[in-house]
Amino acid sequence: PQLANQIAAGEVVERPASVVKELIENSLDAGATQIDVEIERGGSQLIRIRDNGSGISKAELGLALSRHATSKVATLLDLEQIMSLGFRGEALASISSVSRLTLTSKTQTQNEAWSALAEGRDMAVNIQPAAHPTGTCVEVADLFFNTPARRRFLRTDKTEYAHIDEVIRRVALSRFDVQIKLSHNGTLQRHYRIARNESGQHRRIAAICSKNFIDNAININADYDGIQLTGWLGLPTTARNQADMQYCYINGRMMRDKLINHAIRQAYTDKIPTDLYPAYVLYIQIDPKQVDVNVHPSKHEVRFHQARLVHDFIFQSLERSLQQGIE
Ligand code: ADP
Ligand code: MG
Repeated sequence: PQLANQIAAGEVVERPASVVKELIENSLDAGATQIDVEIERGGSQLIRIRDNGSGISKAELGLALSRHATSKVATLLDLEQIMSLGFRGEALASISSVSRLTLTSKTQTQNEAWSALAEGRDMAVNIQPAAHPTGTCVEVADLFFNTPARRRFLRTDKTEYAHIDEVIRRVALSRFDVQIKLSHNGTLQRHYRIARNESGQHRRIAAICSKNFIDNAININADYDGIQLTGWLGLPTTARNQADMQYCYINGRMMRDKLINHAIRQAYTDKIPTDLYPAYVLYIQIDPKQVDVNVHPSKHEVRFHQARLVHDFIFQSLERSLQQGIE
């Protein structure tokens, strides 16, 4: 199983930041409201993610580390209306096949915590008592230690850490109801506090996207036929130097979707010179039955069943908002 898992890891685990993304998604799926991320040496030495979610019972710890074991999708029908961020049951198995992974967890009903690690070619799971409050801690040490070609592919600590920081930003923009801390080499770098109201949200967006962006952004709030579009659009003047400040979420997942990008670009090109990049933070809520997220393991793309309708709704809503914002 180790080899099969390592091959699967090739798709899911590209670099430390992809590990952080998968682990944080698990924490969110477990209902965590506090997530602490500790990174050593750009994540190549250590990635530790601790959450206060529902935890994993002792009986399920071994299962959580095995391939295609997911507690989230029980039936094909579930797969058609996925609400959780994870559903493939691949991440933990893949990551543990290319690192030294320890999974420590306690559920509310258990009195003690347990730790599990999978070792060797047969990935035999070793379970031991541990100390931990309700929730889960995943430690990923020495990423790619047993796949030297991939280890050599890692960039400098600084670069790998920058990718992790970006993953955390994306999550922080999608979940204002969750506190996230990020530290690197023992120093706290980010602390996104729970935002209970609009001013809290503005503070978080200012920290992530700049004060200039949020102070000048146009508020978006539109819906049509069960599709909701909310968020903030940067005004043309603030759009400069913000090529990478483009955040779009579909049902809470960060996406880089061609169709959506096209609709946004088109709305902007009608209103501002084409050589400026739009900056935005947008949230689309749509009936999960109307989208297919099961397209690619990295889950960055979606397929809309009514693509044209979604495109036109987004284009028209943004164009109208931009027009009003410019006036
Ligand atoms: P998936 O998220 O696709 O189900 P993963 O390999 O990421 O697959 O995780 C396997 C299983 O382990 C999950 O279905 C879940 O039951 C459990 N799990 C993983 N991380 C956590 C966590 N932080 N809190 C609670 N359960 C977790
Ligand atoms: Mg997962």
